[in-house]
Amino acid sequence: MPLLVMKFGGTSVADLDRIQNAAKKVQREVARGYDVIVIVSAMSGKTNELVGWVEGTSPMFDAREYDAVVASGENVTAGLMALTLQEMDVPARSWQGWQVPIRTTAQHSAARFVEIPRQNIDAKFAEGMKVAVVAGFQGVSNEGRITTLGRGGSDTTAVAFAAAFGAERCDIYTDVDGIYTTDPRISGNARKLDKIAFEEMLELASLGAKVLQTRSVELAMRYKVRLRVLSSFEDTDDNSGTLVCDEDEIMESKVVSGVAYSRDEAKITLVTVEDRPGISAAIFAPLADAGVNVDMIVQNISEKDYEDHPGAVTDMTFSIPVNQVERARKAMEDARASGQIAYDELVVDKDVAKVSVVGIGMRSHAGVAARMFKALAAENINIKVIATSEIKISVLIDRKYMELAVQALHDAFELEKAG
Ligand code: ADP
Ligand code: ASP
Ligand code: MG
Repeated sequence: MPLLVMKFGGTSVADLDRIQNAAKKVQREVARGYDVIVIVSAMSGKTNELVGWVEGTSPMFDAREYDAVVASGENVTAGLMALTLQEMDVPARSWQGWQVPIRTTAQHSAARFVEIPRQNIDAKFAEGMKVAVVAGFQGVSNEGRITTLGRGGSDTTAVAFAAAFGAERCDIYTDVDGIYTTDPRISGNARKLDKIAFEEMLELASLGAKVLQTRSVELAMRYKVRLRVLSSFEDTDDNSGTLVCDEDEIMESKVVSGVAYSRDEAKITLVTVEDRPGISAAIFAPLADAGVNVDMIVQNISEKDYEDHPGAVTDMTFSIPVNQVERARKAMEDARASGQIAYDELVVDKDVAKVSVVGIGMRSHAGVAARMFKALAAENINIKVIATSEIKISVLIDRKYMELAVQALHDAFELEKAG
């Protein structure tokens, strides 16, 4: 029997009416002859509420209990979806992660898949079940504890099931009708793409486009899963939405294909750090040990014989997620207290955002950076940090200019036009 994976995100299962609307889409695929694995998120807002409750108990909460609490939102929607399908005479059964069992690593709140055994679900399909409704975002460690996959993780559950069960396609139903040149909620002239290359989507996701979790794109690319994003609110058919696929299936030839943003960034500068071999390791090793995710890094040119500092000194600037500032500050202060590093001052800027342009065409075209910086300059937006890779350029700017920057870049690269 051909099999489809259909994933419904939080807004698509926000109440019983929406669950029913989603269930109708599933029923239609069953009527067309598919066995279906449905992956559900928690109702919209639920996971945030659960996270808030956990954080309310203590800032140093036990990560295992965090997972036990936040995974529960998906359990509710899995059961409700199965009940709704049963009411429509579609044989359906819900599965929590441990019942499959979805085996993951024990990195709580950031677990990775180890194995998804098929036997239990296949046995039920063989008995006549048509739909397995699986709670997204969760798994079980080899210690038998509930784990979660990081925010947005139901996308990754969906792709992992599509790979494990050899699904014909993995359809991600959400509150927009596809992947756009930038977030359609920020730019009124964002354009929907029919197709996007895995690598571009991977960059966009990792640079903040939350329409797909980064890891889900990585898995789809590795296991050659046909991945599609489409609307759960509109009528859809086999050609709806956006297909994430190999580069050679794509006709568009724009140099830049999308703009992404990440709102909640912070910038830290260590002022007058000693400039000597090993200093970067001495700064970034304690940050890594403290679980701080450092993103962009700039080391300024060395100032020789600076007034109070005989010998070379420099400033070191890096960006991190804004909610890790206190952890980073403590790691740096501890490293200074123990004599591993020396600096005069630690300066924090919590009001920055990252804006990036992405496109595989950049590999073979010069001038993208110049065009990007010119567009930002025309809006009087100051660039604080720059980072580049083969297919992206990112800048850190004041958060208050984020929307303006996204729009200016979208216009500068004429992304509203197909090319
Ligand atoms: P779900 O709850 O269905 O998982 P998410 O909120 O996680 O939905 O992801 C969908 C959202 O992603 C959209 O509502 C949109 O605001 C945002 N988004 C960001 N970048 C893009 C993009 N390039 N294309 C489409 N949506 C995007
Ligand atoms: N409910 C989880 C979250 O909000 C997982 C998901 O929706 O993908 O992050
Ligand atoms: Mg999501």
